[in-house]
Amino acid sequence: MQPSRQSEIAHEVIESVVHLTEQRDELTLLRSLQASIQEMLPGVQTAMVCLVPGPQRDQWLQDAACPLPKPMFPVTDALMAEAASLSADAPARQLVQDGQSYLISSLGLLEERRKAIVLRQPEWVQADLRIAQGMLKIYANYAKMLFDSERDTLTGLYNRKKLEQKLGELLTGRLNGRNRKRDQGTADYLAVIDLDHFKRINDSHGHLIGDEVLLVFAGLMRNALRDVDWVFRYGGEEFVVLIKDVSPETIVAILDRIRIKVQNHCFPQVGQVTASIGYTAIGDQKLPPYVFEEADKALYYAKENGRNQVCDYRALVCSGKLAPETHQSGSIELF
Ligand code: GH3
Ligand code: MG
Ligand code: MG
Repeated sequence: MQPSRQSEIAHEVIESVVHLTEQRDELTLLRSLQASIQEMLPGVQTAMVCLVPGPQRDQWLQDAACPLPKPMFPVTDALMAEAASLSADAPARQLVQDGQSYLISSLGLLEERRKAIVLRQPEWVQADLRIAQGMLKIYANYAKMLFDSERDTLTGLYNRKKLEQKLGELLTGRLNGRNRKRDQGTADYLAVIDLDHFKRINDSHGHLIGDEVLLVFAGLMRNALRDVDWVFRYGGEEFVVLIKDVSPETIVAILDRIRIKVQNHCFPQVGQVTASIGYTAIGDQKLPPYVFEEADKALYYAKENGRNQVCDYRALVCSGKLAPETHQSGSIELF
């Protein structure tokens, strides 16, 4: 190969790695992966799929709600079945179908979701294959690092750092007047959820059982919410959920559903556990900590007034039960 072509390829590879590792969320990372492959292998077409378990045993269906880069070709049922059969031991496979040669590689295998990329061209040469496999490996390593850096190790939920980022993005978008299509009368909400008398659980059953309660609680919450809702472990036995575009009636129903689910669950060795919830609408608060502070005040009210209940900051302020936040408490360091 010409030395000039070699340095051109080296430059392309470096550029791609730089671009990939600049991404901070999964969708932009996937887009960057697709762009890198296209740039380095112009003859290759890509399509990504996200599969979720279907109603029948071992059945996997395309998840239309999962955001993915636009596919460059339709993924047939046969290719989807190949993607669904990838495993940790066999994360990639090659096959030839209808005059096209395919490389199918896993982009993550969670119990509830499988993502894969399908690459195709009429014929693969070894050098192209090695470039594609190398890019996919870089993607996998970086995606894992990104995933770990924004998760809580015990529960697997998003951590406080991610909450700060997400809420910051949401507020900046609002303050800049970025207009999303929004149904009338709906809003975005932040709720803080705290287990009641959790210290007693630790004291009576030990820290390990306490951890188990947190783990089960996190699962209950996740199951009670939609995929598009964001759930964070803020710290200790305190959790935060971000729920977008719902009506005032819906937010109460969702949060009360979580509260009742927890109350009715029999936690191993511990029995009944309850949770208190405070929430606020995300509106014109200027900084993320201000939003949190309002929901936390409503949570504090719930704790002071019997626990195991859901309290709305704005309703408490309107009824005179809480004084409005002046946001001057120096609590900007909350995050
Ligand atoms: P309240 O109803 O007012 O919320 O009372 P509480 O006992 O739940 O709250 P408090 O803040 O007094 O105690 C929280 C306890 O949570 C104290 C701390 O030891 C425990 N804790 C914090 N993080 C963890 C953890 O990761 N694992 C376990 N097992 N316990 C934790
Ligand atoms: Mg508590
Ligand atoms: Mg607490």
